[in-house]
Amino acid sequence: MHELGICDAMLKMVRGIMKDEELTEITRITVEVGSLSGVVSSYLADCWVAVTDGTELQDTEFVIEDLPGTAQCMDCGEEFTADVNDLRCPKCRGNKLVPLTGRDLTLKEILAP
Ligand SMILES: [Zn+2]
Repeated sequence: MHELGICDAMLKMVRGIMKDEELTEITRITVEVGSLSGVVSSYLADCWVAVTDGTELQDTEFVIEDLPGTAQCMDCGEEFTADVNDLRCPKCRGNKLVPLTGRDLTLKEILAP
């Protein structure tokens, strides 16, 4: 349950921002999830509901934007958009890949009313 820990940390982060910005409520949170981050968007949404249930953030809209990651093949040097369901080089079918982007999960936007 990797996602549950992430949501817990994110909730703390959001509350910290609300305190700093003196916000009493927020309407929407947007999170960007890289396809190579290892985070499953649907689990993340479920976990967010679980951690915010009964809190001041339970009615806040939670938006997840999937960001396609890119990788490079160590055999032929090809750079491409990584397909998490088929992690092989599209050119030589090699499987020695180095992730270039898409490994992060970012709290992108917090929208206040
Ligand atoms: Zn290759």
